[in-house]
Amino acid sequence: MSGSPHIVVIGAGVAGLAAARRLRATGARITILERAPVIGGRVQTAVVEGCKIELGAEFLASFYTRTLALIGQLGIARDLRRIPSSAAILRDGRLYPLWPSARVVFTSLIGSRQKLTLSHLVGSLLRHRPILDLHAFQRACSVDDTSVSEYARAHLSDELLEYVLQPPLSGIFYWTPEQTSRALLLIALRAGLSQPSGLRLFTLHGGLGQLATAMAKGLDLRLSAEVLSVTPRDGGGYSVQAHVGGTGMRLAADGVVVATTATAVPRLLPWLDGERRAFFEAVAYSSTVNLAVGTCGRLPRGVYGLLFPRRETPFLASATIQTVKDPTFAPRGRDAISLHLSGPAAAALRQYDDATLARLMLADLRRLAPAYDPAPTQCFQRLYRCPEALPLFDVGHFTRIDRFARGTIEAGRLVFAGDYLGGPFVEGAIISGEQAAERLVARLGQ
Ligand SMILES: Cc1cc2nc3c(=O)[nH]c(=O)nc-3n(C[C@H](O)[C@H](O)[C@H](O)COP(=O)(O)OP(=O)(O)OC[C@H]3O[C@@H](n4cnc5c(N)ncnc54)[C@H](O)[C@@H]3O)c2cc1C
Repeated sequence: MSGSPHIVVIGAGVAGLAAARRLRATGARITILERAPVIGGRVQTAVVEGCKIELGAEFLASFYTRTLALIGQLGIARDLRRIPSSAAILRDGRLYPLWPSARVVFTSLIGSRQKLTLSHLVGSLLRHRPILDLHAFQRACSVDDTSVSEYARAHLSDELLEYVLQPPLSGIFYWTPEQTSRALLLIALRAGLSQPSGLRLFTLHGGLGQLATAMAKGLDLRLSAEVLSVTPRDGGGYSVQAHVGGTGMRLAADGVVVATTATAVPRLLPWLDGERRAFFEAVAYSSTVNLAVGTCGRLPRGVYGLLFPRRETPFLASATIQTVKDPTFAPRGRDAISLHLSGPAAAALRQYDDATLARLMLADLRRLAPAYDPAPTQCFQRLYRCPEALPLFDVGHFTRIDRFARGTIEAGRLVFAGDYLGGPFVEGAIISGEQAAERLVARLGQ
């Protein structure tokens, strides 16, 4: 290799953007190819009739140390907004706040005997504390032995499972407890409870899409550029074949970062051997549908998010009130609410047309929490489908990413990034991108 290496990054989600920024700092020439006409992947903010609507990630948490540091480096810390109120779980028409501090322990959401069983969870947290690392999920692979539902049924209680653990898993990740490894539960609880002043949530003044926009600044980015395949070239490097604005294009690269979802990898790299191919094919994603409804009045302001237990409804997983996050998320006197379908409902109802889905979701909200019904003052409605919302961190996934961390999947100067490797949230995607860049730099130097 003579001169600075040319690196192609596939995907302009936050993982790809984080990798590109880190690589650019080493002097490499970077080209990012993004299939969509916009950047951000699952971190995008749409503006509809003056209302900011998140198409993917809704909030950042106070334990996202890398993301919050990055926001400082990008010069947008002044736009960080603390979401002032909490999420609440609905039971029998009543809302029970969930955080800050483990408030669930002090509410009547579950009975006293059920609360006592929480001591088993606390014991597990204390015992496994050293391996519950939000920035190295693979370290927890020894507790990737059972699902949250099996663990809760064996050591906690059915009520605790259905009214305390299931609603956040469904409302935030669109997963079921059956699909979630207890390793994920322990890591998330440790991260949330380790905050000295309680768990705090944040957004950005421009919506979280502002983070992706700031990360992309100054990078060589091609939009509507779908990569079709990446093939190793004789004599080293890679040939990247893409469709850019309807025209075929071939790029020569010294190194490649594949920062797509895991499901896209086997199509991009058809020459992968069986074992590596199986690694990517084993990653599954939850799905959801996001219905955003604008209102010509303000919605109740008691809580930011509503979480709906599956015992109360098979359809809705969560609802979030946009102006509670930041009053400027809607024009004065107006508001917007985002409803999300649970993972199982989104999968089961995917054949339904948009109008039917919207009707069903609004009827469900009206029944569950009538005070939040936007229909009387509705001014717009948009429905977004997310067929690949969050990678499942199910039993076996931690063992898989442990194999990845041991270097058995990557080869040559081609590395992978994405939330399926770093953790199912913005922080995990950013960490995975930065770590992928570091691995690639090390390989380029060999
Ligand atoms: C509804 C929803 C709510 C969420 N809520 C939160 C939240 O509140 N907080 C939080 O922290 N996280 C949340 N998340 C998760 C978070 O958004 C993701 O973990 C993170 O954005 C994943 O980033 P990524 O870069 O790994 O993947 P992606 O954002 O999916 O990026 C992959 C990119 O690759 C592109 N691509 C794919 N194939 C090709 C190809 N062949 N050629 C070129 N480009 C290609 C895609 O278009 C995409 O832009 C949420 C996600 C969803 C869907």
